Amino acid sequence: MSKILNYINGEFTPPLKNEWIDNVNPSEGRVYGQIANSTVEDIEKAYQAAKAAFSSWSATTIEERSRILLKIADLIEAHLDRLAEAESMDNGKPLSLAKSVDIPRASANFRFFGNAITQFSSDAHESVGLNTLNFTLRQPIGVVGCISPWNLPLYLFSWKVAPAIAAGNTVVAKPSEVTPMTAFLLGEILTEAGLPKGVLNIVHGTGPSAGQAIIEHPNIKAISFTGGTQTGEHIARTAAPMFKKLSLELGGKNPNIIFADCNYAQMLKTTVRSSFANQGQICLCGSRIFVEKPLYAKFKTDFIAEVQKLKVGHPMEEVNLGAVVSEAHRDKIESYIQLAQEEGGTILTGGKRVTVKGYENGYYLEPTVIEVPDAQCRVNQEEIFGPVVTLMPFETEEEVMAYANGVKYGLSATLWTSNLDRTLRLSKQLETGIVWVNTWLNRDLRTPFGGVKASGVGREGGFEALRFFTEAKNVCIKYE
Ligand code: NDP
Repeated sequence: MSKILNYINGEFTPPLKNEWIDNVNPSEGRVYGQIANSTVEDIEKAYQAAKAAFSSWSATTIEERSRILLKIADLIEAHLDRLAEAESMDNGKPLSLAKSVDIPRASANFRFFGNAITQFSSDAHESVGLNTLNFTLRQPIGVVGCISPWNLPLYLFSWKVAPAIAAGNTVVAKPSEVTPMTAFLLGEILTEAGLPKGVLNIVHGTGPSAGQAIIEHPNIKAISFTGGTQTGEHIARTAAPMFKKLSLELGGKNPNIIFADCNYAQMLKTTVRSSFANQGQICLCGSRIFVEKPLYAKFKTDFIAEVQKLKVGHPMEEVNLGAVVSEAHRDKIESYIQLAQEEGGTILTGGKRVTVKGYENGYYLEPTVIEVPDAQCRVNQEEIFGPVVTLMPFETEEEVMAYANGVKYGLSATLWTSNLDRTLRLSKQLETGIVWVNTWLNRDLRTPFGGVKASGVGREGGFEALRFFTEAKNVCIKYE
């Protein structure tokens, strides 16, 4: 059985209390390894390593930092097959998805920030007539904490740690205990790439133990977190009295708004993907579908037909959906399917478990489409984060904007229309951090990424991330 060790000060080390938790393969429903169950003592050890590495790393030239990040990117690419298999086994996602999206994107994150740091600059302001010149230093913060979720494990982990180290910080990072494997494998790559010891420390364990120790640490000055809204709220409450810098990327309940004038074929194909990619476990999935009345009946028929063609099965095979991430998560999703029926919803397709031959203990669910009677019902308001979407018709722009914005979340929205005026009008009205028009999950890494309302605080991506991971210090010089 594999043992997932911490990576502290450039060494793989067992947890100080020698306690372990089971690592479960969700597509087979069996324990296949053990994970370090780290405690406050392990976090302190990681912090000390990061602290010791800071003065040298923050003074390392931009060129050298960039060179190491680019090398990490190359090595991730070189180990694509191994990392993709590990991701698929740990998470339940189709191997094809891990190979085409998760791992290439993790490599792209390191490459992007390895290049971005060479272009990062700060401002200068001349106060004309006052004989003063201001320039702004952008200095690394020190030791920072990065905490990531299970749905896109290496992809989201690298999205945080790459800008953090590029900007000259040193890091204590914790991947989700549910999917720790690829972050563990990254340790070997960091060593091979020549990242100095202590710059990036990866500590495994549960949220309430290892995660909590990071957010409570008085000298970890910034926390970059991606995960659920409730956890984000807890982190904000804990960190606020210590005045930590916080970036919180939280849950979503994203609207997918379809007007009758859209490119129908393109919309239908993309909507199947935006509903069920990664078993619906992407924070950006469009989980509430609103369709303009004249198109509603046709869309409903065609969408159901397309969804019924999706193949659910073992992630190492040619499938569209693999397993959901855990037994507890499957139970949560099923409870919402049950609730939908109690709330007067109609299950148009799906709703049941799938038994996969040879892997009967795996956590498989059918892609599920539920027609809901009103936008306020709980299945239409709460994040399910699984292969479940709701469907509703609308008649006017005003009506659909009220539906779209009538949730506590505000991460992303997708709009399908060929009307330019409407595109601009509704893009401004949507209460989300991201709007996709006639596309979905189309990411340029330079653009700001994040949500409003209960979907988070702050933005990641591009220079926004480098700004988050640096402190701005203004220097004002008077001259004669
Ligand atoms: P959780 O909030 O449960 O966990 C996220 C991370 O926080 C995990 O590493 C978890 O550890 C850790 N954690 C839990 N409790 C604490 C604590 N007290 N202190 C510090 N860390 C803690 O989210 P999930 O992993 O379930 O991820 C799914 C959620 O993430 C969904 O709501 C989804 O919408 C959101 N998400 C948001 C994205 C965005 O960009 N806005 C992108 C992707 C997902 P452990 O798991 O080991 O307990």
